[in-house]
Amino acid sequence: GLATIPKAPADFLMGLKKDFLADESTQKVALVVGAYRDDKGRPWRVPAVMEAEKRYFEDSSYFKHEYSPILGISEFTHAASQVLLGKDSPALAEGRVCSVQTLSGTGALHIGALLLTRFLPSPTPWAFVPAPTWHLHRQCFEHVGLTVKDYPYYDGVTKSLTFSAMESALRSAPPGSVVLLQVCAHNPTGLDLDEEQWRLIVSLVQEQRLFPFLDCAYQGFASGSLTKDNLAIRLFIEAGVEMVIAQSFSKTMGLYGQRVGCFHYVAAAHSDAPGVVERVASQLAILIRSEMSAAPSYGPRVASIVLNDSELYAEWERNLVTMSSRITEMRWKLRQELEKLETPGTWKHLTDQIGMFGFTGLTPAQCQRMKSKHHIHLPSSGRMSISDLNTANVARVAMSIDEVVRW
Ligand code: PLP
Repeated sequence: GLATIPKAPADFLMGLKKDFLADESTQKVALVVGAYRDDKGRPWRVPAVMEAEKRYFEDSSYFKHEYSPILGISEFTHAASQVLLGKDSPALAEGRVCSVQTLSGTGALHIGALLLTRFLPSPTPWAFVPAPTWHLHRQCFEHVGLTVKDYPYYDGVTKSLTFSAMESALRSAPPGSVVLLQVCAHNPTGLDLDEEQWRLIVSLVQEQRLFPFLDCAYQGFASGSLTKDNLAIRLFIEAGVEMVIAQSFSKTMGLYGQRVGCFHYVAAAHSDAPGVVERVASQLAILIRSEMSAAPSYGPRVASIVLNDSELYAEWERNLVTMSSRITEMRWKLRQELEKLETPGTWKHLTDQIGMFGFTGLTPAQCQRMKSKHHIHLPSSGRMSISDLNTANVARVAMSIDEVVRW
């Protein structure tokens, strides 16, 4: 039996959550989870999605609660691919794309990794992930048997991207290696490649014959523009590179628990692309059937209403601007407060970064003191969920940072 099963370590966010719940201070603040909050610290129901839910419930069609097809609800997956790649993407026009519904972005990372371990030519390739990266990348990849290696991404001293080190590490990656690239709003550093750097990576991937695995969890949430945020994807498509992409609507539609996302396979630009796409889809159908039979339907149906209605789509685009601009505002506010306090160090990096997280540069000991002395909880990496800042708590967070930095 399982009597001797070893106890597994808890997920790192669980420990933080437990500490936060046990903290009895009325002043406590958690800057931990990547879920958007409004200026009152409440979850925000995205207005376009609320309207879509209303329409979903008004529709009395008895098909609503039937099983979804194995590869997902096609109105949803097709519209999702248009958002991700751009409506006029040559990859869509040339039949180079296969899009399937997954258990949100994490499920897409999983199904993608599984597909690659099963079908990339053996031996199983290495997978390169940025250092640092979202902790589930490594976990998801190792779970299906990939050997995970880091490539340099961030320099803690200069608080900036280490692009040339990243480039040379990838240049020495064995051909056939999988390389995970975050499309925008890099978690946890908030630092993205610029266009020129992306172009260099696209060429490098082609020259080295690496297999790009793009992770897109924040499209529209980083800059407020869906088109600006998918630049990396468009550059890969322009170059005709074969790749896979994990797409999540958790943050962008505020549908976290509904698990709304897709996995996309994009075939290289060659004449047999539609044939490859068809064969990949047939294998994905087996993997998905074996794992979950069919994906959930409520969240994707609601998302599909937003994506397929021009008015709701435009509203959603405005909602993305609301979320991303409040985050930018909080970045500036925190930086200004710290500069007002003349907190030792520089704080420009807070506004140079983009997206859900701020990589503060606080040390593990300083983060510990933030918690024990100031009741402000954040992981020991110094990653701060910026949307947990609001007009009521930002000054106190800044004063606490000031105290721990001088300590
Ligand atoms: N990728 C990155 C970089 C993330 O930060 C997240 C969520 O935090 C995800 C993927 C996937 O999230 P979900 O499974 O909720 O779509």
